[in-house]
Amino acid sequence: MRYKNYDLPSIKTRYGDYHFKSKLEARWAVFMDLLGVSYEYEKYQGIVSVNFFEYAYMPDFFLNDIELFLEIKPRKPVESELNKAAAWANDAGDVVFFYNLAPDNGIRMIGCENAIPIMDADVWRWCECLRCLKVDITAYGVPRCGCFSDDEFDMMLLGKILDIDFSQTPTILKAFSMAKKHDFKTNTKARKLPRRASLL
Ligand SMILES: [Zn+2]
Repeated sequence: MRYKNYDLPSIKTRYGDYHFKSKLEARWAVFMDLLGVSYEYEKYQGIVSVNFFEYAYMPDFFLNDIELFLEIKPRKPVESELNKAAAWANDAGDVVFFYNLAPDNGIRMIGCENAIPIMDADVWRWCECLRCLKVDITAYGVPRCGCFSDDEFDMMLLGKILDIDFSQTPTILKAFSMAKKHDFKTNTKARKLPRRASLL
């Protein structure tokens, strides 16, 4: 099959403290500001080695509290991108890819073993604990803040209590739709959405 580049030309976008390479990245920054997630844009860079070739690599975001690097793509990441991220993860920390502005399609690269990139088999999602309100990126969007007992998780899996999708709480859905509509006319940062714990 012939290689085809499906990416639309990206539009440099000024927002908050940064000049983003694309409007999509800026929309993700809006999403994170609305959720109160602290991020740094293109702060870290280095050289990664993939199949005996060396490449300059700079992940889009680093999330301080979540302790993950974040890569944003306008479409599903391709193999070469995943390989570079795996090499980066080996030395610097895990990288999660999200594509489009959907917060529920995360692919996590963990590192390499014997030069073979390791991809986490789980889908990674943004989630919000409705007890402590921690926003996180986890496998299947299951909170890992420690607010839920093993029994509660078992019950949830059986659908007996707390029929809640922590990756689609009202706040996450609202942040998602506001980030989609953000107009970037001024570079004022979006204010964190007010939230209240709704589960005892
Ligand atoms: Zn919690």
